[in-house]
Amino acid sequence: MHPDVQALLALQSEDLAIREIEARRAGLEPRLREMERARRAAGEALARAHELVAAEEKAQRELQARIAQHKQLHERNVAQLDTVRRMKEATAAVAQVEQARRMLAEEESALQAITRRLTELRGAVEAQERALLELEEQQRVEREAVAEAQREVDAELATRREARAGSARRIERSLLQKYDRIRSARTGGAVFPLRGPSCGHCDTSVPLQRRNVMAARGSIEVCETCGVLMYAVS
Ligand SMILES: [Zn+2]
Repeated sequence: MHPDVQALLALQSEDLAIREIEARRAGLEPRLREMERARRAAGEALARAHELVAAEEKAQRELQARIAQHKQLHERNVAQLDTVRRMKEATAAVAQVEQARRMLAEEESALQAITRRLTELRGAVEAQERALLELEEQQRVEREAVAEAQREVDAELATRREARAGSARRIERSLLQKYDRIRSARTGGAVFPLRGPSCGHCDTSVPLQRRNVMAARGSIEVCETCGVLMYAVS
């Protein structure tokens, strides 16, 4: 086999290996993205639980302020009751006191309902916090495993790329450029042997004279049909 062909085939096998390693590295990405998504979802759930607690606490504060106000009012009404003398005024004052007492009782029971809801909502916050912590712990282990796998793949890639550079140096510049151009546009190989009288990739037959030149000189030619590099097998 012609040395050019040999060097080119060595380079091609390095390139295919590099491509395979790069695919393996890319294969680690979806898991990282999935972990990130799960982490974000858990964080958002916790934020929502916090928001619900904050809203309920606001309602609680407002109701507590209203109750305090109504209590004062009620106490004033009760005090006034002692000062009224006339029957008609007394009846009105008692009705006012009763009405305020009922309103206060309703507000107190509404406050109890809020307090119960707050207990539940704070429990939900704690559950979300625990879930987030568990997820982070679980992901920490997994991220380390992925990072370790990435380091291994990167080391492998670095070694391969160095070997590739060595192979590339053994190839004449214009041929290397041609090869790189063809390779970057394709997913499979770029260099194929003639198969019988035809291109080993697309099976289009190559004129006899051209084949003879390829066999005699060991030259590497571009297939006019599919654009790969072809060489004669001697
Ligand atoms: Zn072809």
